[in-house]
Amino acid sequence: MSLLSVIVPCFNEQEAIPFFYEAISKTASEMKDEWSDLDFEFLFIDDGSKDETLKVIESLRLKDRRVRFISFSRNFGKEAALYAGLQHSKGDYAVTMDADMQDPPSLLPDMFRAVTEEGYDSAATRRVTRRGEPVVRSFFARQFYRLINRMSSADIVDGARDYRIMTRRMIDAIVDMQEYNRFTKGIYGWIGFNTKWIEFENVERVAGETKWSFWKLFGYAMEGIIGFSTIPLSMATWVGIFMSIVSFLGILFIIIKKLVFGDPTSGWSSMVCIILLVAGIQLFCMGIIGQYLAKTYLETKRRPIYIAKRTSEDDIEGEKS
Ligand code: UDP
Ligand code: MG
Repeated sequence: MSLLSVIVPCFNEQEAIPFFYEAISKTASEMKDEWSDLDFEFLFIDDGSKDETLKVIESLRLKDRRVRFISFSRNFGKEAALYAGLQHSKGDYAVTMDADMQDPPSLLPDMFRAVTEEGYDSAATRRVTRRGEPVVRSFFARQFYRLINRMSSADIVDGARDYRIMTRRMIDAIVDMQEYNRFTKGIYGWIGFNTKWIEFENVERVAGETKWSFWKLFGYAMEGIIGFSTIPLSMATWVGIFMSIVSFLGILFIIIKKLVFGDPTSGWSSMVCIILLVAGIQLFCMGIIGQYLAKTYLETKRRPIYIAKRTSEDDIEGEKS
């Protein structure tokens, strides 16, 4: 017997979950035809939803004991939800997927085959198009992936989704990474293992709307850069060296001009501009250092990544399955 955990982070997904559940159960029964000794668990993580998400999940639990859930005390973010899911998954394999059907369940058999029969540790998906997404958002997303891959040694794939199946060994490796500032896409790249990439065309969400505002995505991008690269820190040094060289040349120029032409330096306004420029660069560099310091500060507090308010296991006594 082997068990596959399906981990689904949900934040205000009351409309989408019924569609999702139906689709994944159908895929599960189709997969059972091919792999008769395969069992499923559906682990929903309610990420502090404000709507009826938890009720919807609970009613699924009542009719299907494969459904489990963890409900957070507030919104901790998708990264925390994925972590909680992996940590509590009991499967020999786990797959993480979105509740909005943007991660097509029809890919699951192929992904499962990759980890069971083709010897991969993980199979991940990437969208080759961003059709249906706002143009500005796609543009910034592309630039982000270009930037981070130049800056970081962890290999982060453009268009990679968090739709990924992995073996127990890989799940344990991820759960062992207990950093508070999580950027899962970077973590997957960092831990290694061999991954099969499966490509698909973008699918639009089935119901509800995206939970990511531009600023939330921007923060996420910063998380990725700061969490997986220290280049911005050394950038400050390079800018400093460059500025020093430029000003040294400037000084030489002024001294020679004075000696040759006897022309005293005039123009205090250009001076003020230069002082402001240098001060600006210094503040910018200090800001970068501050960002790292802030992350370090949060990390040293060793706060839990999430706080669970309720889980499906709480009701075991009452119901006896
Ligand atoms: N999500 C979450 N917590 C959050 C934001 C999102 O658990 O704070 C979940 C959400 O319910 C969905 C998945 O993460 O299952 C992806 O979110 P969404 O579809 O809104 O993102 P998009 O596909 O637009 O990038
Ligand atoms: Mg989505």
